Amino acid sequence: MFKKILIANRGEIALRIQRACRELGVKAVMVYSEADRDAKYVRLAEEAVCIGPAASNLSYLNMPAIISAAEVTDAEAIHPGYGFLSENADFAERVEKSGFQFIGPTPESIRLMGDKVSAKQAMIRAGVPCVPGSEGELPDDPTQIRRIAKTVGYPVIIKAAGGGGGRGMRVVHTEAALINAVAMTKAEAGAAFGNPAVYMEKFLQNPRHIEIQVLADTFKNAVYLGERDCSMQRRHQKILEEAPAPGINRKLIERIGERCVTACKKMGYRGAGTFEFLYEAGEFYFIEMNTRVQVEHPVTEMITGIDIVKTQIMVAAGEKLPFTQRQITISGHAIECRINAEDPYKFTPSPGRITTWHAPGGPGVRVDSHVYTNYFVPPNYDSMIGKIIVHGDTREQALARMRTALLETAVEGINTNIPLHRELMVDAKFMAGGTNIHYLEHWLEQHKR
Ligand code: ADP
Repeated sequence: MFKKILIANRGEIALRIQRACRELGVKAVMVYSEADRDAKYVRLAEEAVCIGPAASNLSYLNMPAIISAAEVTDAEAIHPGYGFLSENADFAERVEKSGFQFIGPTPESIRLMGDKVSAKQAMIRAGVPCVPGSEGELPDDPTQIRRIAKTVGYPVIIKAAGGGGGRGMRVVHTEAALINAVAMTKAEAGAAFGNPAVYMEKFLQNPRHIEIQVLADTFKNAVYLGERDCSMQRRHQKILEEAPAPGINRKLIERIGERCVTACKKMGYRGAGTFEFLYEAGEFYFIEMNTRVQVEHPVTEMITGIDIVKTQIMVAAGEKLPFTQRQITISGHAIECRINAEDPYKFTPSPGRITTWHAPGGPGVRVDSHVYTNYFVPPNYDSMIGKIIVHGDTREQALARMRTALLETAVEGINTNIPLHRELMVDAKFMAGGTNIHYLEHWLEQHKR
């Protein structure tokens, strides 16, 4: 096992990784920007290094600053968390070239999955079902593009190979709009992602977002830890997640999970990863793979009892996965609400000083948050200030526990989306389970204030 690792991130995930390190008896070096001096994990740190000013590009995205922080503190490995540099293959490469272990997959895996066209091709080879569409990148010839769209069938969606964060996509309903839409998406993709390549998929009308968590070691062992339902989204941003996904046939999940495991073995994947799917009319369609730990990993930890972050660190240190697929059991139901510093209905960010912070508690309740009373939420980063996760024997019990937990939570000084979560937890359709990716947007439209 490593003696010391550097955590190249901030916020709740920095604290989450710090906690895993303590349990493993590994020293953790925290890095922070000038805006994050007072974060809980910095105060709790044995060692912390300031890596630059508030602006992310000068601190959390500053590769030389992070690598020198690892050098001066004698860390052996770097955990990138999520966001920031976590899916940057060049960073992973620089970390390893500088003699540190990157706690994540190889730069080759990150690169392969970071290009959605090559990712899809790898999935097709591994037998993972994908959304029907173009075989690879779209050609330039308009006649050929029209022919592909006709075969796929309208509506289609044009997507950037290098896209991410819900950007670089355009839905096309008619042939008349096709060529112009392709040209516009290409131009945007070139400007935003430095890669003008686009591809085409059938646009699914009412899918759910279901994802499969995997873990793999360097001895060709890989497992899947069941699925998560992340369909409750606004502008492609997840706001709450749950596991298992309500109402999906377990046998079907097992089949898809096994395909994901095969794909991991075929590409020599290592560490934690997530295969994201759209699910419609009883079928799964792969859309992309995230090659890092995800915000919503706790719901899977709650139903499997497996610590995903600790396992990431263990396999990066060259240990074998401590469990086989047969030893993984799913028990009960878990729900996570992301707590954001924002107006609950207008979604305008609400940074500032938290004058009161009362976290919930009780059986089956977990809070992952770096904030505390008197903490100042800086305006420079993502608005998420923490997550409330609950576990129950059944989905009904989990919902009841979440309602209680949200009732107990008190945050003053800033606005949060807790009122929105409270309403969603008593919404009849959400309570019934199985709402699709458009449900929250429609709900917000109907509950405008
Ligand atoms: P990103 O990396 O930007 O998140 P994804 O490929 O994961 O891009 O797609 C983001 C979201 O866009 C999906 O969760 C879904 O809501 C929508 N989407 C993507 N592809 C399709 C499709 N073929 N049909 C319908 N919706 C889609």
